[in-house]
Amino acid sequence: MTLTKLPELVPEPVELPGHLAELRAEVREFLDAERDAGAWTPGADVWLSGWDADFSRRLGKRGWLGMTIPTEYGGHGRGALDRYVVTEELLAAGAPVAAHWVADRQIGPSLMRFGTEEQRTAFLPGIARGEIYFGIGMSEPDSGSDLASVRTRATKVDGGWSLSGTKVWTSGAHHAHAFFALVRTEPVDDENRHAGLSQLLVELDRPGITIRPIPLLTGAHHFNEVVFDDVFIPDERVFGSVGSGWKQVTGELAFERSGPERFLSTYPLLASLVGALTASGDVDAGTRREVGSLVARLWTLRRMSLAVAGALESGQAPELAAALVKDLGTRFENEIVDAARLLVSIPPDPGASSGFARLLADSVLHAPGFTLRGGTNEVLRGIVARGMGLR
Ligand SMILES: Cc1cc2nc3c(=O)[nH]c(=O)nc-3n(C[C@H](O)[C@H](O)[C@H](O)COP(=O)(O)OP(=O)(O)OC[C@H]3O[C@@H](n4cnc5c(N)ncnc54)[C@H](O)[C@@H]3O)c2cc1C
Repeated sequence: MTLTKLPELVPEPVELPGHLAELRAEVREFLDAERDAGAWTPGADVWLSGWDADFSRRLGKRGWLGMTIPTEYGGHGRGALDRYVVTEELLAAGAPVAAHWVADRQIGPSLMRFGTEEQRTAFLPGIARGEIYFGIGMSEPDSGSDLASVRTRATKVDGGWSLSGTKVWTSGAHHAHAFFALVRTEPVDDENRHAGLSQLLVELDRPGITIRPIPLLTGAHHFNEVVFDDVFIPDERVFGSVGSGWKQVTGELAFERSGPERFLSTYPLLASLVGALTASGDVDAGTRREVGSLVARLWTLRRMSLAVAGALESGQAPELAAALVKDLGTRFENEIVDAARLLVSIPPDPGASSGFARLLADSVLHAPGFTLRGGTNEVLRGIVARGMGLR
């Protein structure tokens, strides 16, 4: 067994070009004005729970969605690092970004990679305006980590495909316009389970689709079960090529796993914790050390995540580094919650109108999902181990 050296597998650190400081200042000014006007209340885990279509449209008008989409498709032809700066500011502010999140993060780039001209023209301009929202149609009742076992089936019919099966844990499907469904288009080949899978672009208002809520611990409606009963999908909604679903999905997951949302979900709680401790005026050395250690790790994670963004921008597919960021980052998000519970004696209160107690309650209730969504940490460690040559 050869153990590859980890440093060789992790992309080079990236320094943000100086001109992005101007963009960052613009975004901060916009967010300050929005907050001062009471347009929204800062939250934790906003990319999952902060659905606000009007806010997404306002971002679209500013040119801060579809930033990497070429201008001929309604985007802004900017780089991944420009987008990184905008997204980290939005997350740090706890702004309600959930409506456009999936479409902006992974559907736009996937459409540019594998979409037909007709699909790009139909969806990309609306994504960049913050008006078209997508979900993710991968997981099923018995297929989560092992996605190759999906049983939703598409059968060829005249002019298209007939789709039957069930997707589950589908975030925001009750609001979204569409998702890419990973489906089986050929029977399982035991020698190659990844073959025979395809992606279909499914508009969620098609006849035969039923969307049922699965309430969160908080009682909120975020997750759904999506049932297809002989749903007709025309040939022009096949995404990429028939049989290439596995390759396409793994490419999409690299975008899904490495962004700043994988370590900033509870950043507004950390900022509020520092505020609450400062206001108390009595911070002992142990507390300072603990908060200092969290902030130092935050900075390290940010450098790693930026390195992945830089590698994606230069056309690489840093799957192993993305898995590392997600594993370390989501555990860090949970540690912020633990520290906040221990260091400040205010009980979590979902009903609190502002501040620390409400952010803490949101974070406590959402924390169980951090290490699961987008691929569990155990599975990601498997990717890291294999990438290092361990089998
Ligand atoms: C907040 C949240 C939002 C989500 N949103 C979406 C969405 O929008 N669309 C969507 O398609 N899915 C979504 N999911 C589903 C998510 O992708 C799955 O929960 C995840 O992939 C795990 O699958 P599972 O729940 O079936 O668990 P399982 O795969 O059954 O895993 C159960 C346990 O076994 C462990 N395990 C499984 N395989 C291995 C292995 N090979 N090695 C070591 N350990 C292993 C896992 O780590 C886990 O602890 C969401 C989940 C959450 C929590």
